[in-house]
Amino acid sequence: MLLTVFFLTEMVLYLLKPVLEKNVPGRAKDAGRQDGWLVMKEVYLDNSATTRISRESAAAMEEVLERVYGNPSSLHRLGLAAEKKIDESRAALAEILRVAPEEIYFTSGGTEAINLAIQGTARRLARRGRHLLTTAIEHPATLYACRDLEEEGFEVDYLPVDREGRPELEELRSRVRRDTLLVSVMHVNNEVGTILPVEEIGAAVKEKNPATLFHVDAVQSFCRLECRPRPWQADLVSISAHKIHGPKGVGALYKREGLPVKPLLQGGGQEGGLRSGTENTPGIAGFAAAALSLYGEREENCRHMQGLKERFLAGLSSRLPRAKVNGPRKGAPHIVSVAFPGLKGEVLLHTLEGEGIYVSTGSACHSRRRELSHVLQALELSEADISGTLRFSFSPFNSGEEIDYSLEKLAAAVTELEGLLR
Ligand code: PLP
Repeated sequence: MLLTVFFLTEMVLYLLKPVLEKNVPGRAKDAGRQDGWLVMKEVYLDNSATTRISRESAAAMEEVLERVYGNPSSLHRLGLAAEKKIDESRAALAEILRVAPEEIYFTSGGTEAINLAIQGTARRLARRGRHLLTTAIEHPATLYACRDLEEEGFEVDYLPVDREGRPELEELRSRVRRDTLLVSVMHVNNEVGTILPVEEIGAAVKEKNPATLFHVDAVQSFCRLECRPRPWQADLVSISAHKIHGPKGVGALYKREGLPVKPLLQGGGQEGGLRSGTENTPGIAGFAAAALSLYGEREENCRHMQGLKERFLAGLSSRLPRAKVNGPRKGAPHIVSVAFPGLKGEVLLHTLEGEGIYVSTGSACHSRRRELSHVLQALELSEADISGTLRFSFSPFNSGEEIDYSLEKLAAAVTELEGLLR
Protein backbone atom coordinates (compact mmCIF):
# COMPACT_ATOMS: atom_id res chain seq x y z
CA MET A 1 0.00 0.00 0.00
CA LEU A 2 2.76 2.42 1.07
CA LEU A 3 4.66 1.54 -2.09
CA THR A 4 1.62 2.30 -4.29
CA VAL A 5 1.19 5.75 -2.66
CA PHE A 6 4.91 6.41 -3.16
CA PHE A 7 4.80 5.48 -6.86
CA LEU A 8 1.61 7.47 -7.46
CA THR A 9 3.15 10.59 -5.85
CA GLU A 10 6.31 10.17 -7.91
CA MET A 11 4.22 9.83 -11.08
CA VAL A 12 2.17 12.98 -10.37
CA LEU A 13 5.37 14.95 -9.64
CA TYR A 14 6.96 13.61 -12.83
CA LEU A 15 3.96 14.69 -14.91
CA LEU A 16 3.90 18.14 -13.26
CA LYS A 17 7.67 18.65 -13.62
CA PRO A 18 7.60 20.75 -16.83
CA VAL A 19 4.93 23.06 -15.37
CA LEU A 20 6.73 23.43 -12.04
CA GLU A 21 10.10 24.12 -13.63
CA LYS A 22 8.71 26.59 -16.13
CA ASN A 23 7.20 28.68 -13.37
CA VAL A 24 9.92 28.96 -10.74
CA PRO A 25 10.46 32.63 -9.84
CA GLY A 26 12.94 34.41 -12.03
CA ARG A 27 12.59 32.27 -15.13
CA ALA A 28 10.01 34.29 -16.98
CA LYS A 29 10.51 37.79 -18.22
CA ASP A 30 7.20 39.35 -17.22
CA ALA A 31 5.08 39.36 -14.14
CA GLY A 32 1.61 37.94 -14.34
CA ARG A 33 -0.30 34.71 -14.33
CA GLN A 34 0.66 31.89 -16.64
CA ASP A 35 -1.26 28.62 -16.63
CA GLY A 36 -2.67 29.58 -13.25
CA TRP A 37 0.81 30.17 -11.72
CA LEU A 38 2.09 33.50 -10.46
CA VAL A 39 5.29 34.20 -12.38
CA MET A 40 7.72 36.75 -11.04
CA LYS A 41 9.15 39.52 -13.15
CA GLU A 42 12.92 39.37 -13.67
CA VAL A 43 14.89 42.61 -13.95
CA TYR A 44 18.62 41.96 -14.16
CA LEU A 45 20.57 45.08 -13.16
CA ASP A 46 23.85 43.40 -12.21
CA ASN A 47 25.59 43.57 -15.56
CA SER A 48 28.92 44.67 -14.10
CA ALA A 49 29.11 41.36 -12.24
CA THR A 50 28.28 39.36 -15.33
CA THR A 51 25.97 39.50 -18.32
CA ARG A 52 23.38 37.24 -19.81
CA ILE A 53 24.77 35.46 -22.89
CA SER A 54 23.75 36.87 -26.27
CA ARG A 55 21.96 34.74 -28.85
CA GLU A 56 24.90 35.14 -31.24
CA SER A 57 27.39 33.94 -28.63
CA ALA A 58 25.29 30.96 -27.54
CA ALA A 59 24.77 29.90 -31.18
CA ALA A 60 28.50 30.10 -31.93
CA MET A 61 29.26 28.01 -28.85
CA GLU A 62 26.63 25.43 -29.67
CA GLU A 63 28.04 24.97 -33.15
CA VAL A 64 31.58 24.42 -31.80
CA LEU A 65 30.44 22.18 -28.95
CA GLU A 66 28.57 19.92 -31.32
CA ARG A 67 30.72 19.97 -34.42
CA VAL A 68 34.17 21.49 -33.87
CA TYR A 69 35.23 19.30 -31.00
CA GLY A 70 38.77 18.43 -32.07
CA ASN A 71 41.82 19.45 -30.09
CA PRO A 72 43.27 22.51 -31.85
CA SER A 73 46.75 20.99 -31.47
CA SER A 74 45.79 17.75 -33.30
CA LEU A 75 47.15 17.38 -36.81
CA HIS A 76 44.02 15.86 -38.35
CA ARG A 77 41.04 17.55 -39.98
CA LEU A 78 39.08 17.98 -36.76
CA GLY A 79 42.07 19.54 -35.05
CA LEU A 80 42.63 21.91 -37.95
CA ALA A 81 38.94 22.92 -37.91
CA ALA A 82 39.26 23.83 -34.21
CA GLU A 83 42.48 25.73 -34.83
CA LYS A 84 40.77 27.64 -37.65
CA LYS A 85 37.92 28.60 -35.31
CA ILE A 86 40.42 29.96 -32.79
CA ASP A 87 42.34 31.86 -35.46
CA GLU A 88 39.11 33.44 -36.76
CA SER A 89 38.14 34.44 -33.22
CA ARG A 90 41.59 35.89 -32.57
CA ALA A 91 41.38 37.88 -35.80
CA ALA A 92 37.92 39.22 -34.84
CA LEU A 93 39.11 40.49 -31.44
CA ALA A 94 42.29 41.92 -33.00
CA GLU A 95 40.19 43.80 -35.55
CA ILE A 96 38.06 45.36 -32.80
CA LEU A 97 41.20 46.42 -30.88
CA ARG A 98 42.97 47.41 -34.14
CA VAL A 99 46.01 45.26 -33.36
CA ALA A 100 47.63 42.24 -35.03
CA PRO A 101 46.01 38.82 -34.41
CA GLU A 102 49.38 37.49 -33.18
CA GLU A 103 49.16 39.98 -30.33
CA ILE A 104 46.02 38.37 -28.83
CA TYR A 105 46.42 35.51 -26.30
CA PHE A 106 43.40 33.65 -24.95
CA THR A 107 43.15 33.06 -21.20
CA SER A 108 40.61 31.74 -18.72
CA GLY A 109 39.23 35.24 -18.10
CA GLY A 110 40.07 38.80 -17.13
CA THR A 111 41.69 37.73 -13.86
CA GLU A 112 44.20 35.48 -15.58
CA ALA A 113 44.96 38.06 -18.28
CA ILE A 114 45.65 40.69 -15.59
CA ASN A 115 47.85 38.34 -13.53
CA LEU A 116 49.76 37.35 -16.66
CA ALA A 117 50.26 40.98 -17.65
CA ILE A 118 51.45 42.13 -14.23
CA GLN A 119 53.28 39.15 -12.79
CA GLY A 120 54.50 37.83 -16.15
CA THR A 121 56.24 41.10 -17.06
CA ALA A 122 57.53 41.78 -13.53
CA ARG A 123 59.08 38.33 -13.22
CA ARG A 124 60.56 38.31 -16.73
CA LEU A 125 61.84 41.89 -16.68
CA ALA A 126 62.78 42.39 -13.03
CA ARG A 127 66.26 43.47 -14.07
CA ARG A 128 64.75 46.59 -15.73
CA GLY A 129 63.35 47.76 -12.39
CA ARG A 130 61.38 46.55 -9.41
CA HIS A 131 58.88 49.39 -9.03
CA LEU A 132 55.23 49.20 -10.09
CA LEU A 133 52.52 51.84 -10.04
CA THR A 134 48.77 51.30 -9.92
CA THR A 135 45.70 52.97 -8.38
CA ALA A 136 43.82 52.35 -5.16
CA ILE A 137 40.58 51.51 -7.01
CA GLU A 138 41.75 48.60 -9.17
CA HIS A 139 40.03 45.23 -9.35
CA PRO A 140 41.30 42.65 -6.81
CA ALA A 141 42.98 40.77 -9.70
CA THR A 142 45.38 43.71 -10.04
CA LEU A 143 45.68 44.49 -6.33
CA TYR A 144 46.41 40.89 -5.29
CA ALA A 145 48.76 40.28 -8.24
CA CYS A 146 50.70 43.33 -7.00
CA ARG A 147 50.56 42.19 -3.39
CA ASP A 148 52.16 38.87 -4.40
CA LEU A 149 54.92 40.79 -6.13
CA GLU A 150 55.50 42.89 -3.00
CA GLU A 151 56.13 39.63 -1.15
CA GLU A 152 58.72 38.80 -3.80
CA GLY A 153 60.55 42.07 -3.15
CA PHE A 154 58.93 44.42 -5.68
CA GLU A 155 57.80 47.86 -4.58
CA VAL A 156 54.26 48.93 -5.48
CA ASP A 157 52.74 52.43 -5.25
CA TYR A 158 48.95 52.66 -5.02
CA LEU A 159 47.87 56.07 -6.29
CA PRO A 160 45.05 57.78 -4.40
CA VAL A 161 42.01 59.01 -6.33
CA ASP A 162 39.63 61.96 -5.96
CA ARG A 163 35.95 61.75 -4.90
CA GLU A 164 35.05 60.74 -8.47
CA GLY A 165 37.65 57.97 -8.62
CA ARG A 166 40.27 59.70 -10.76
CA PRO A 167 43.98 59.74 -9.98
CA GLU A 168 45.73 63.09 -10.34
CA LEU A 169 47.67 63.02 -13.61
CA GLU A 170 50.56 65.17 -12.35
CA GLU A 171 50.91 63.01 -9.26
CA LEU A 172 50.97 59.90 -11.43
CA ARG A 173 53.64 61.41 -13.67
CA SER A 174 55.72 62.40 -10.66
CA ARG A 175 55.63 58.85 -9.31
CA VAL A 176 56.97 57.24 -12.50
CA ARG A 177 60.65 56.61 -11.75
CA ARG A 178 63.67 55.37 -13.66
CA ASP A 179 63.14 51.92 -12.18
CA THR A 180 59.34 51.85 -12.77
CA LEU A 181 58.79 48.64 -14.64
CA LEU A 182 55.02 48.79 -15.11
CA VAL A 183 52.02 51.07 -14.63
CA SER A 184 48.65 49.30 -14.46
CA VAL A 185 45.30 51.11 -14.47
CA MET A 186 41.72 50.21 -15.26
CA HIS A 187 39.77 51.92 -18.05
CA VAL A 188 36.35 51.78 -16.34
CA ASN A 189 35.93 51.15 -12.63
CA ASN A 190 33.55 48.26 -12.02
CA GLU A 191 32.00 49.68 -8.83
CA VAL A 192 31.32 53.33 -9.57
CA GLY A 193 31.82 53.58 -13.34
CA THR A 194 34.65 56.15 -13.37
CA ILE A 195 36.27 56.37 -16.80
CA LEU A 196 40.01 56.78 -16.37
CA PRO A 197 41.79 58.90 -19.00
CA VAL A 198 43.94 56.02 -20.22
CA GLU A 199 45.23 57.82 -23.30
CA GLU A 200 46.51 60.72 -21.19
CA ILE A 201 47.90 58.33 -18.58
CA GLY A 202 49.74 56.34 -21.29
CA ALA A 203 51.19 59.54 -22.74
CA ALA A 204 52.32 60.76 -19.30
CA VAL A 205 53.95 57.43 -18.46
CA LYS A 206 55.84 57.12 -21.75
CA GLU A 207 56.90 60.77 -21.71
CA LYS A 208 58.39 60.37 -18.24
CA ASN A 209 59.97 56.97 -18.92
CA PRO A 210 59.63 55.37 -22.37
CA ALA A 211 60.86 52.04 -20.96
CA THR A 212 58.01 51.78 -18.43
CA LEU A 213 55.36 49.31 -19.56
CA PHE A 214 51.69 50.25 -19.51
CA HIS A 215 48.85 47.78 -18.81
CA VAL A 216 45.14 48.64 -19.07
CA ASP A 217 42.39 46.53 -17.47
CA ALA A 218 39.69 47.06 -20.09
CA VAL A 219 37.37 44.36 -18.76
CA GLN A 220 34.48 46.79 -18.12
CA SER A 221 34.98 48.97 -21.18
CA PHE A 222 35.67 46.52 -24.01
CA CYS A 223 32.93 46.75 -26.67
CA ARG A 224 31.21 49.51 -24.72
CA LEU A 225 33.74 52.30 -25.10
CA GLU A 226 36.45 52.57 -27.74
CA CYS A 227 39.41 50.40 -26.70
CA ARG A 228 42.56 51.00 -28.72
CA PRO A 229 45.92 49.86 -27.28
CA ARG A 230 47.95 51.83 -29.85
CA PRO A 231 46.70 55.38 -29.16
CA TRP A 232 46.75 54.51 -25.44
CA GLN A 233 50.42 53.50 -25.87
CA ALA A 234 49.46 50.38 -23.92
CA ASP A 235 51.81 47.40 -24.06
CA LEU A 236 49.24 45.10 -22.47
CA VAL A 237 45.41 45.15 -22.33
CA SER A 238 43.14 42.66 -20.52
CA ILE A 239 39.58 41.80 -21.61
CA SER A 240 36.94 39.25 -20.59
CA ALA A 241 34.04 37.54 -22.38
CA HIS A 242 31.39 37.28 -19.67
CA LYS A 243 31.15 41.06 -19.23
CA ILE A 244 30.08 41.47 -22.85
CA HIS A 245 27.34 38.84 -23.13
CA GLY A 246 29.81 36.05 -23.85
CA PRO A 247 30.57 32.92 -21.81
CA LYS A 248 32.22 32.81 -18.40
CA GLY A 249 35.77 31.52 -18.00
CA VAL A 250 37.34 33.02 -21.12
CA GLY A 251 39.29 36.20 -21.64
CA ALA A 252 42.25 37.53 -23.57
CA LEU A 253 45.41 39.52 -23.18
CA TYR A 254 46.69 41.90 -25.82
CA LYS A 255 50.49 41.85 -25.61
CA ARG A 256 52.55 44.11 -27.83
CA GLU A 257 54.58 42.08 -30.31
CA GLY A 258 58.02 41.17 -29.03
CA LEU A 259 57.36 42.03 -25.37
CA PRO A 260 58.78 39.22 -23.22
CA VAL A 261 56.38 37.89 -20.56
CA LYS A 262 56.90 34.90 -18.28
CA PRO A 263 54.02 32.40 -18.51
CA LEU A 264 52.07 31.67 -15.33
CA LEU A 265 51.51 28.02 -16.33
CA GLN A 266 53.82 25.38 -17.70
CA GLY A 267 52.56 22.75 -20.15
CA GLY A 268 52.00 22.08 -23.82
CA GLY A 269 53.04 25.54 -25.01
CA GLN A 270 49.68 26.59 -26.53
CA GLU A 271 49.04 30.28 -27.31
CA GLY A 272 52.55 30.87 -28.56
CA GLY A 273 53.98 29.36 -25.39
CA LEU A 274 52.45 32.11 -23.25
CA ARG A 275 49.43 30.20 -22.00
CA SER A 276 49.69 26.43 -21.88
CA GLY A 277 46.57 24.28 -21.70
CA THR A 278 44.15 23.00 -24.36
CA GLU A 279 42.25 26.00 -25.64
CA ASN A 280 38.60 26.51 -24.68
CA THR A 281 37.43 26.45 -28.30
CA PRO A 282 33.67 26.89 -27.65
CA GLY A 283 34.36 29.67 -25.15
CA ILE A 284 36.73 31.43 -27.53
CA ALA A 285 34.22 31.21 -30.41
CA GLY A 286 31.49 32.51 -28.07
CA PHE A 287 33.75 35.37 -26.96
CA ALA A 288 34.39 36.51 -30.54
CA ALA A 289 30.71 36.21 -31.52
CA ALA A 290 29.65 38.23 -28.45
CA ALA A 291 32.27 40.88 -29.15
CA LEU A 292 31.35 41.20 -32.82
CA SER A 293 27.64 41.63 -32.15
CA LEU A 294 28.11 44.05 -29.22
CA TYR A 295 30.83 46.08 -30.90
CA GLY A 296 28.75 46.45 -34.07
CA GLU A 297 25.98 48.09 -32.07
CA ARG A 298 28.06 49.86 -29.46
CA GLU A 299 26.97 53.43 -30.28
CA GLU A 300 23.30 52.54 -30.25
CA ASN A 301 23.80 50.42 -27.11
CA CYS A 302 25.66 53.20 -25.31
CA ARG A 303 22.93 55.71 -26.16
CA HIS A 304 20.33 53.25 -24.88
CA MET A 305 22.20 52.56 -21.60
CA GLN A 306 22.92 56.27 -21.09
CA GLY A 307 19.19 56.91 -21.51
CA LEU A 308 18.41 54.22 -18.90
CA LYS A 309 20.97 55.70 -16.53
CA GLU A 310 19.54 59.22 -16.87
CA ARG A 311 16.00 57.91 -16.41
CA PHE A 312 17.15 56.06 -13.30
CA LEU A 313 18.98 59.08 -11.86
CA ALA A 314 16.07 61.44 -12.56
CA GLY A 315 13.62 59.02 -10.92
CA LEU A 316 15.96 58.54 -8.00
CA SER A 317 16.30 62.25 -7.23
CA SER A 318 12.56 62.84 -7.42
CA ARG A 319 11.52 59.76 -5.41
CA LEU A 320 14.44 59.36 -3.02
CA PRO A 321 16.13 62.74 -2.58
CA ARG A 322 18.24 61.46 0.34
CA ALA A 323 19.98 58.87 -1.84
CA LYS A 324 23.51 59.87 -2.84
CA VAL A 325 25.22 58.94 -6.10
CA ASN A 326 28.76 57.66 -5.46
CA GLY A 327 31.53 58.59 -7.84
CA PRO A 328 31.01 60.43 -11.11
CA ARG A 329 27.62 61.35 -12.50
CA LYS A 330 29.14 61.25 -15.95
CA GLY A 331 30.89 57.89 -15.81
CA ALA A 332 30.42 54.78 -17.92
CA PRO A 333 26.88 54.51 -19.32
CA HIS A 334 26.18 51.16 -17.69
CA ILE A 335 27.09 51.72 -14.00
CA VAL A 336 25.45 53.69 -11.17
CA SER A 337 26.47 53.37 -7.52
CA VAL A 338 24.07 54.79 -4.93
CA ALA A 339 24.34 55.15 -1.16
CA PHE A 340 21.19 54.93 0.96
CA PRO A 341 22.47 56.40 4.23
CA GLY A 342 21.40 54.54 7.36
CA LEU A 343 20.31 51.40 5.50
CA LYS A 344 22.17 48.14 4.87
CA GLY A 345 22.84 47.51 1.20
CA GLU A 346 22.50 43.79 1.68
CA VAL A 347 19.02 44.06 3.20
CA LEU A 348 17.92 46.33 0.40
CA LEU A 349 19.43 43.93 -2.16
CA HIS A 350 17.38 41.01 -0.82
CA THR A 351 14.24 43.14 -0.58
CA LEU A 352 14.61 44.00 -4.26
CA GLU A 353 15.37 40.37 -5.06
CA GLY A 354 11.96 39.56 -3.58
CA GLU A 355 10.49 41.72 -6.37
CA GLY A 356 12.59 40.00 -9.05
CA ILE A 357 15.16 42.82 -9.29
CA TYR A 358 18.81 41.77 -9.19
CA VAL A 359 21.49 44.27 -8.13
CA SER A 360 24.78 44.25 -6.20
CA THR A 361 26.25 45.83 -3.13
CA GLY A 362 29.68 47.05 -4.45
CA SER A 363 31.33 44.37 -6.58
CA ALA A 364 30.56 40.65 -6.65
CA CYS A 365 33.92 39.89 -4.97
CA HIS A 366 33.31 42.23 -2.01
CA SER A 367 29.76 40.99 -1.55
CA ARG A 368 30.95 37.44 -0.87
CA ARG A 369 33.81 38.49 1.36
CA ARG A 370 31.57 40.93 3.26
CA GLU A 371 34.40 43.44 3.32
CA LEU A 372 33.91 47.18 3.02
CA SER A 373 34.60 48.13 -0.59
CA HIS A 374 38.19 49.36 -1.07
CA VAL A 375 36.94 51.48 -3.98
CA LEU A 376 34.35 53.34 -1.90
CA GLN A 377 36.92 53.73 0.89
CA ALA A 378 39.36 55.25 -1.61
CA LEU A 379 36.58 57.71 -2.57
CA GLU A 380 36.47 58.62 1.14
CA LEU A 381 32.85 57.67 1.66
CA SER A 382 31.71 57.27 5.27
CA GLU A 383 31.32 53.74 6.62
CA ALA A 384 27.54 54.25 6.79
CA ASP A 385 27.39 55.26 3.14
CA ILE A 386 29.55 52.32 2.09
CA SER A 387 27.37 49.84 4.01
CA GLY A 388 24.25 51.38 2.48
CA THR A 389 25.49 51.23 -1.12
CA LEU A 390 23.92 49.42 -4.04
CA ARG A 391 25.31 49.16 -7.56
CA PHE A 392 22.90 49.15 -10.48
CA SER A 393 24.40 48.13 -13.82
CA PHE A 394 22.57 48.11 -17.10
CA SER A 395 22.79 46.30 -20.42
CA PRO A 396 21.27 46.79 -23.85
CA PHE A 397 18.72 44.11 -22.86
CA ASN A 398 17.18 46.37 -20.19
CA SER A 399 14.17 48.55 -20.99
CA GLY A 400 12.89 51.89 -19.71
CA GLU A 401 9.88 50.08 -18.30
CA GLU A 402 12.23 47.90 -16.21
CA ILE A 403 13.90 51.03 -14.84
CA ASP A 404 10.52 52.50 -13.84
CA TYR A 405 9.51 49.23 -12.19
CA SER A 406 12.83 49.07 -10.30
CA LEU A 407 12.52 52.66 -9.13
CA GLU A 408 9.01 52.05 -7.87
CA LYS A 409 10.07 48.95 -5.91
CA LEU A 410 13.28 50.62 -4.70
CA ALA A 411 11.39 53.66 -3.40
CA ALA A 412 8.91 51.40 -1.61
CA ALA A 413 11.71 49.28 -0.08
CA VAL A 414 13.71 52.30 1.11
CA THR A 415 10.64 53.98 2.59
CA GLU A 416 9.61 50.78 4.38
CA LEU A 417 13.10 50.06 5.76
CA GLU A 418 13.54 53.69 6.88
CA GLY A 419 10.15 53.46 8.61
CA LEU A 420 11.27 50.34 10.51
CA LEU A 421 14.39 52.15 11.73
CA ARG A 422 12.52 55.17 13.02
N1 PLP B 1 38.69 43.71 -14.01
C1 PLP B 1 37.51 44.32 -13.84
C2 PLP B 1 37.43 45.81 -13.93
C3 PLP B 1 36.38 43.56 -13.57
O1 PLP B 1 35.19 44.16 -13.39
C4 PLP B 1 36.50 42.15 -13.49
C5 PLP B 1 35.33 41.30 -13.14
O2 PLP B 1 34.60 41.60 -12.22
C6 PLP B 1 37.76 41.56 -13.70
C7 PLP B 1 38.82 42.38 -13.95
C8 PLP B 1 37.94 40.07 -13.65
O3 PLP B 1 37.46 39.46 -14.83
P1 PLP B 1 37.00 37.91 -14.83
O4 PLP B 1 35.74 37.82 -14.04
O5 PLP B 1 36.82 37.58 -16.27
O6 PLP B 1 38.12 37.15 -14.23
